Amino acid sequence: MSATIIDGKAIAADLRARVAAEVARVAGAHGFVPGIAVVLVGNDPASEVYVRTKTRQVVETGMRSFDQHLPDSAREDELLALVARLNADPAVHGILVQLPLPPQIDPQKVIAAIDPAKDVDGFHPLNAGRLARGLPGLVPCTPLACVILAKTVRPALAGLDAVVIGRSNIVGKPLVQLLIAESATVTVAHTKTRDLPALCRGKDLLFAAIGRAELVKGDWIKPGATVIDVGINRVTGADGKARIVGDVAFDEARAVAGAITPVPGGVGPMTIACLLVNTLRAACAARGLPAPAV
Ligand code: NAP
Repeated sequence: MSATIIDGKAIAADLRARVAAEVARVAGAHGFVPGIAVVLVGNDPASEVYVRTKTRQVVETGMRSFDQHLPDSAREDELLALVARLNADPAVHGILVQLPLPPQIDPQKVIAAIDPAKDVDGFHPLNAGRLARGLPGLVPCTPLACVILAKTVRPALAGLDAVVIGRSNIVGKPLVQLLIAESATVTVAHTKTRDLPALCRGKDLLFAAIGRAELVKGDWIKPGATVIDVGINRVTGADGKARIVGDVAFDEARAVAGAITPVPGGVGPMTIACLLVNTLRAACAARGLPAPAV
């Protein structure tokens, strides 16, 4: 068997087109343009790439981008003052502070300072609590992307056995909450899990959010399972060249799984598309409009 490759790039492009159409519709019907401020502190090369990609896609979907760049030496109170200004700015509907932050700044303090209604990353404790309670709120983009991608091949997740490897606040935990909301039966694994391969075998859905290159092997996977690979790991190949691989040994896994996301080109592009969805949702909510149908 060779798995269906879940084409995150194409699915994300389709979602972005629907967001762009909805942005144009609300601009015409209600006379406002959704806007997002992406805040970058310092010059981390990976963060700079992410921010550039996000900004380009924000602009391409017709939204306004209010990017802010502070130096690596920025103090915590400077960043908190900037967040307070963005919270108060009615043209800014979404605020994203790119992580990681320099060591002198406490990321939890900064996340907690963002207006929960503008928290398009979905990291604010209030939004995390709303998700855990099954209440509406802004949901973290990567877990949202994972569920959307899984549902492209298995539209109904109810009753399926899922394993989520990883329990971080930004991926694993919110993903578990989203899967519970879909009525999947969820097991969470982490570094203290005993016999991870045995735990994974027999699961209909496998989500890997680990950060360990190709940890998940083909013989961990139930034949026909859906595999969503969140990992982004930089490795050096036998030819000495750097490349990006996921948390799943892709070639082995694709021979067993029913469907699998590639890395790159799977969860990554969908994560940014979900950020655009969250910004549109936040903007509509700020104007008292119903949630957009995208
Ligand atoms: P993280 O905060 O480092 O969390 C990793 C999780 O994996 C932890 O819960 C850890 O368990 C668990 N883990 C690590 N090694 C393990 C092992 N050998 N066996 C079982 N569990 C293990 O990472 P993260 O922020 O969630 O990110 C995970 C990966 O996704 C990274 O590669 C990251 O770059 C990628 N990512 C991608 C996107 C995207 O847009 N595609 C977005 C976010 C993250 P403990 O809790 O016990 O330590």
